[in-house]
Amino acid sequence: MHWQDMTWPEIGALDRERTVLVLPVGSVEQHGHHMPTGTDTYLATAVSDAAAALVGPDVVILPSPWYGLSAHHMHFPGTITLTAETMMAMVGDIVASVVHHGFRRIAVVNGHGGNAGVIDVLASTLGHRFYGAARIACLTYFTLARDAIMASRESKHGGMGHACEFETSLMLHLHPGLVHQDRAVVHYPDTGTPWLSTDLVNGSIVRSFVAFDDLSESGTFGDPGLATGEKGERFLAMSAEALAAFLKDFSTWPIPETRP
Ligand SMILES: [Zn+2]
Repeated sequence: MHWQDMTWPEIGALDRERTVLVLPVGSVEQHGHHMPTGTDTYLATAVSDAAAALVGPDVVILPSPWYGLSAHHMHFPGTITLTAETMMAMVGDIVASVVHHGFRRIAVVNGHGGNAGVIDVLASTLGHRFYGAARIACLTYFTLARDAIMASRESKHGGMGHACEFETSLMLHLHPGLVHQDRAVVHYPDTGTPWLSTDLVNGSIVRSFVAFDDLSESGTFGDPGLATGEKGERFLAMSAEALAAFLKDFSTWPIPETRP
């Protein structure tokens, strides 16, 4: 079920204790020569939809705000970035609105590596702000499904980074008309240090800002040459299964009483 397709009486009738609201967040940013700027939001939304189909009617998908933190892609035309403060305020306002309407379980499902830090902060700040009223969970879907993705990838380390084996496969499955596979550039970036990795699912512990064009002329990190639509179907299934398992568990998390 999609929030934006429902009437207010339909939303008013939803069970406030059981319903889990999912807010997909992604980015509008360059994705190499071969993929569209909306890739991350398309994918976060598709994984959320597929997980909701597995869980059933207790999951409702909120409309995604589309934009995210993409300052590291701003040297490429097409990228639109929020500041961290804007994103925190925007997600905070969305969560405050649905909590106002009595909803008690909100999961922010992220599809963009650059948002990972801010959704960690949001989990803490919104969790504190709405303590006793709602539980807020924030996650990145490809990190949640990391073990399954690692087991089935073909690329070596660095092959899944950005517009890569993983993202290109998913887009070939979901939106093949938006992928220009003949323009794809394979690029394994050299960060110059083992402490910084560009791998999406097996990345750095150390965090440091890197402008994408310092490491990749095309904007690609990894190996889109290994991408196929069949692989994308499998990546979607394993991502949706991991998210569905989490959402089922999240629907049972206790909501603590507010102490005076
Ligand atoms: Zn992406």
